[in-house]
Amino acid sequence: MVGSALVRRLADSNVELVTMSRDELDLRDSEATLRWVRDVAPEMVFIAAGRVGGIDANSRFPADFIADNLAINTSIISAAVRTGVPKLMVLGSSCIYPKHAAQPMREDSLLTGAIEPTNVWYAIAKISALKLAEAYRRQHGHDFISAMPTNLFGPNDNFDEGRGHVIPALMSKARHAVESGADSLEVWGSGAPLREFLHVDDCADALVHLAERYSDAETINVGSGSEVSIRELTEKICAISGFEGELRFDATRPDGAPRKLVDSSRIRASGWSPRVGLDEGLRTTYQWFLEARRGLV
Ligand code: GDP
Repeated sequence: MVGSALVRRLADSNVELVTMSRDELDLRDSEATLRWVRDVAPEMVFIAAGRVGGIDANSRFPADFIADNLAINTSIISAAVRTGVPKLMVLGSSCIYPKHAAQPMREDSLLTGAIEPTNVWYAIAKISALKLAEAYRRQHGHDFISAMPTNLFGPNDNFDEGRGHVIPALMSKARHAVESGADSLEVWGSGAPLREFLHVDDCADALVHLAERYSDAETINVGSGSEVSIRELTEKICAISGFEGELRFDATRPDGAPRKLVDSSRIRASGWSPRVGLDEGLRTTYQWFLEARRGLV
């Protein structure tokens, strides 16, 4: 999702983009990754690849989440070090901050407390990646930076009802409910948690903004600044999809972190701000999802 948004963002620039699909190159394979990075000799690398998933997938596949993310980041960062890539960006995520970090979460709250248990495997791998990049900067002077996007959504998200994050999963469920004429829709948890969402096109724009002007060891948050409860979010998705039935909150499912708002004041002060509002982003993403299902995108 982030990779294809970066491709859209950079399509009209005079940058030569080089991408590889998962089928062509397994980034967990350090030898193959090294050969590829050596061949391409990029001026900059964005590590948009990763194993990501929603609250349930993270709990069910802990080995995949920790092992794949560690392997992907280690292969690419090592290849960049060995071949002298001038600039590289690692991506973290707001879910790697401590569960009870003061809100909004500042960059320096990383590693100040325990991680939300449903995110721990993914988070340990991502924190390691951020620290690996930072260590190479500190010890060998590589211009490696990192960014910490908040919860993202948009085209090319994983719309699987079981494995996806809340927005694509609920879009899938709502479409299904409308098409099958169901009179209720299942929502996990209490509906009370608050989440900040950022459209992936805004995220890609922020990453390019940082790549062009940021060079520091500390990670930098990328958020929209606005929060919504899971209940309100669900109501918005129901309105967009035309589902008018009842919402059934399943309390046996975890809520996850009660709140996850990042403090984006540093990136805002550097002259970047988001453009896509939540309502508009949800509408266009739902449209994309319907078209993708019909094979139109
Ligand atoms: P999180 O931000 O790391 O907790 O990841 P998610 O996007 O998976 O979940 C966000 C919140 O939405 C949690 O409180 C979930 O319990 C809630 N939620 C409600 N319905 C769903 C659903 O159908 N799928 C997912 N993934 N989350 C849901």
